[in-house]
Amino acid sequence: MDAQPNSLEARDIHYHLHPYTDARKHQETGPVIIEKGDGIYVEDNAGNRYIEAMAGLWSVAVGFSEQRLVDAAARQFAKLPYYHSFSSKSHSPLVDLAEKLVKMAPVPMSKAFFTNSGSEANDSAMKMIWYRSNALGQPQRKKIISRQRGYHGVTIASASLTGLPNNQTSFDLPIANVLHTSSPHYWREALPGEGEEQFSTRLADDLEQLILAEGPETIAAFFGEPVMGAGGVIVPPAGYWEKIQAVLAKYDILLVADEVICGFGRTGNMFGSQTFNMRPDIMVMSKQISSSYQPISALMINERVFEPLADESNRIGTFGHGFTCGGHPVAAAVALENLNIIEERDLVGNARRVGGHMQERLGELASHDLVGEVRGVGMIAAIELVGDKATKAPWGKAGALGALVNDLLRQNGVISRNMGDALAFCPPLIITEAQVDTLVDVVKRALDAAAVQVKG
Ligand code: PMP
Repeated sequence: MDAQPNSLEARDIHYHLHPYTDARKHQETGPVIIEKGDGIYVEDNAGNRYIEAMAGLWSVAVGFSEQRLVDAAARQFAKLPYYHSFSSKSHSPLVDLAEKLVKMAPVPMSKAFFTNSGSEANDSAMKMIWYRSNALGQPQRKKIISRQRGYHGVTIASASLTGLPNNQTSFDLPIANVLHTSSPHYWREALPGEGEEQFSTRLADDLEQLILAEGPETIAAFFGEPVMGAGGVIVPPAGYWEKIQAVLAKYDILLVADEVICGFGRTGNMFGSQTFNMRPDIMVMSKQISSSYQPISALMINERVFEPLADESNRIGTFGHGFTCGGHPVAAAVALENLNIIEERDLVGNARRVGGHMQERLGELASHDLVGEVRGVGMIAAIELVGDKATKAPWGKAGALGALVNDLLRQNGVISRNMGDALAFCPPLIITEAQVDTLVDVVKRALDAAAVQVKG
């Protein structure tokens, strides 16, 4: 790119290594610099305004200009800008948040534990599960099952749970003791003529076979997102979670619901676990917990996890795990205020109502020549782009069409994200029907423009 010397763009290229970016290509193309936010919109430093149709990274429920969160942060900064929770220390925002989360939980939960990112929360869950197995005198019970296409983060353990090649190739991952079972992507992976329930039964059988082959006494837990996000917005097919949970119950395997994207309204209920009748032992939460105005994540554990953990920590003398900024008071205060706003403004209801409208309007695009599938639930959706509708084959190299339409969207004022050829839409929960209509109109125009380039 032709960046002015000393411009933000030039300095970004010179000094900044970007996550989830082709580092070599970035040196040519440079950054998109976002300068301010306003409701569902963000604006770049050239004055271009975008509908932020990904809510940042699936995370900003209340939009990009919520003054109440700014005020909550300022009040807490003035009162107690930092404290920790090691060695029995605590502070009021954290006690309030822990109580609120446990009371919000859709299944009985015992305690909340605080971390700074989704990855850390999943690592913490994994460590607690291993600790528990040792406490129960079952040191062989250490294997964890997650799914192909699942996303649980990028730290060494959570990236191992993740089932996507980019997070493992050349990183020498996954680590030992992590196994992956099939992904519930019905449209892509069902056999010809196989119904949704049959497909779910087959996947539950796959899981059971894996457990039996490894030895049921060696399997500690199963991690899953209620709806897979970064794997391409995969909504589980009919009967999926019921059948999976029946297998887990049969072998006494813990269920961890990774609610990092689904939590706090995204699927049209407060938690994705409610939308899909999941009864997790551990719930992992981040992103919309604070609308990502502050970094904070949490996990809730039930008595089955807490009781042995408490015994083991008592035997050893401490639960030797925790982060300097885990449960930071400013982040906790912001999270509390954010959850209050979600409740007061019924943003969960909005995810259902306006989300329903979004699903309907995006659904109209299913007949488009370049669209293989439109899928979603609540206020999260994806359009899977194809070069050939009949064979579901991509256009050229897999992901090329997704990148093309994603660029066209940005040129036309919409920030989306393509995961390969799946184009995701996950706007702030405050979006209105009229704004959804504008969004879908831009998507349709981008698809038409892409069709001209692709089909000639
Ligand atoms: N779990 C899920 C379901 C996620 O979507 C993400 C982030 N996209 C993570 C975990 C990891 O969160 P973080 O990026 O905060 O580490």
